Amino acid sequence: MTTKLYWEDSHLTRFTARVTDSWLQDGHQIIALDQSAFYPTGGGQPCDTGSIKTSEKEGRVIDVEITDDERILHRLDTDIPLAVGDEVSCEIDWNRRREMMQQHTGQHILSQAFFQLFGAETKGFRITDRSTEIDLTLEAQPDEVEQAIARAEELANSVVFDNREIRVHNVTPEESAKLPLRKESFIADCIRVIEISDYDWSPCGGTHAKRTGEVGLIAVRGWERAKKMTRAHFVCGSRLLDDYHAANKTAEAIARKFSAGRDEAEAAVSRSLDENKRLSRRVRELAELATKAEARQLIESVGVSNGRRVISRVFDDRDFEELKLLAHRLVDGDGVIALLAVKESGMARLVFASSSDVSADMNAAMKIACEKLGGRGGGKSDFAQGGGAEVAELNAALEASRAVIEKS
Ligand SMILES: [Zn+2]
Repeated sequence: MTTKLYWEDSHLTRFTARVTDSWLQDGHQIIALDQSAFYPTGGGQPCDTGSIKTSEKEGRVIDVEITDDERILHRLDTDIPLAVGDEVSCEIDWNRRREMMQQHTGQHILSQAFFQLFGAETKGFRITDRSTEIDLTLEAQPDEVEQAIARAEELANSVVFDNREIRVHNVTPEESAKLPLRKESFIADCIRVIEISDYDWSPCGGTHAKRTGEVGLIAVRGWERAKKMTRAHFVCGSRLLDDYHAANKTAEAIARKFSAGRDEAEAAVSRSLDENKRLSRRVRELAELATKAEARQLIESVGVSNGRRVISRVFDDRDFEELKLLAHRLVDGDGVIALLAVKESGMARLVFASSSDVSADMNAAMKIACEKLGGRGGGKSDFAQGGGAEVAELNAALEASRAVIEKS
């Protein structure tokens, strides 16, 4: 069993210890110590990192875990020759510890705020790379959840600003039964209880700030429904400052694109989106007019043969949807067959259409063209589409279709 120095002093960063066991595993040295300030992964919180060194060599601690018999195992990024009884010097990464302690202590404060204000219990807790999640028994409409979050956040931050003392009590189960605990403890014999002065009592084996002011600030970034509960995502302390800088940078960058100040950016974006919708509508109207005019010109440019006009064209730069629109406009009137193609990203794409008074099978003609193009296609007798990769065969494919149509 390893003595948990992080329980005695959560701000201890340097310590010496004796090796109680050591072995190599997949090229990594695993070290068990008689005492350790390294917090092992558990209770929703990632482990500490840091270094362990002997007089000869130093290794980075990249993972820490605790075994069922309460031994703390430190995984190094390298191998260090060690013998049982050797003394090692250890140091934990304080910035990471402080960051984790801020999120973890912030969770105690925020969870109690939800409990005190709405009776919502915290059923799950995880510190992830970006934020911290708590699963709350809070069932309400979205706008009510938003209001509840705002009130809990306000209460939680007032507790932070009060800079209240945080005390650790090691009590027996009998003593704990008399305490106003927020949640049940799962530890059988001795219970470690964290008290936030005049606010919260919770059994916990984690690392905590000494005063609430260390948490810095608590902000809920967002929430979602998960497992029939409300999952709130929040950030505290140094993470919150990083998050603010990232959010501010994004907001400033968007504002600059609209030559607006940060606070005016949302209105500028809304105006731009409205304008975009209006222009899109206008473009569609104009495209319809332009397509009608183009169809008229194309019809006039070909002669009548057997009482009908066959319009066969290859376009180099045309959106396929626009091409289909042109085909429809060409066959709006009587006696027209349209065989249209476009070259698009190394592919030939085709659309064939015929006026309602023309008896020619566009589906059959399309299959003939697609065969030559090494592709596939089909449709109805008056409208078909398809394509293929043999772009060099495009003119020959259209000619083959045209020849079949002219015989019909
Ligand atoms: Zn805790």
